[in-house]
Amino acid sequence: MAERLSGGCLCGAVRFAAVPDKSEMGVCHCSMCRRWTGGVLMAVGCSDVQLEGREALGIYKSSDYGERVFCKACGTSLFWRMSDGSHTSVSAQAFDDSSEFKFTTEIFVDEQPANYAFANDTSKMTGPEVIAYFTQQQDPQHG
Ligand SMILES: [Zn+2]
Ligand SMILES: [Zn+2]
Repeated sequence: MAERLSGGCLCGAVRFAAVPDKSEMGVCHCSMCRRWTGGVLMAVGCSDVQLEGREALGIYKSSDYGERVFCKACGTSLFWRMSDGSHTSVSAQAFDDSSEFKFTTEIFVDEQPANYAFANDTSKMTGPEVIAYFTQQQDPQHG
């Protein structure tokens, strides 16, 4: 899938276009994503993210390896990305049409509170499994 899809923040100050790696979205249950989004982060791994409205972008470095990009005007959660630029997860709900993304994955399930659960049939990964995955990805030259 190489189709470029458009999206933006609530107030329209930030617009973007990105190419989803797959037409699939994953949910992150970690405590940071839940606090950052006010729910859970539903995200789509994307490449070639093009932005308009950079002056409205806020960037918060939330861990040693990751940062969160949001609109400073309206507060919309837009992207989680690796600080080295090797991976960007775009908020599925920031796309103009999120209805085509298949919900396939749930991550940081070890941090998920017991008071909610999704009924979708998904594959699940714990936080340590995810961090190992991204640490590998960080150095693609060496496998
Ligand atoms: Zn905005
Ligand atoms: Zn998270």
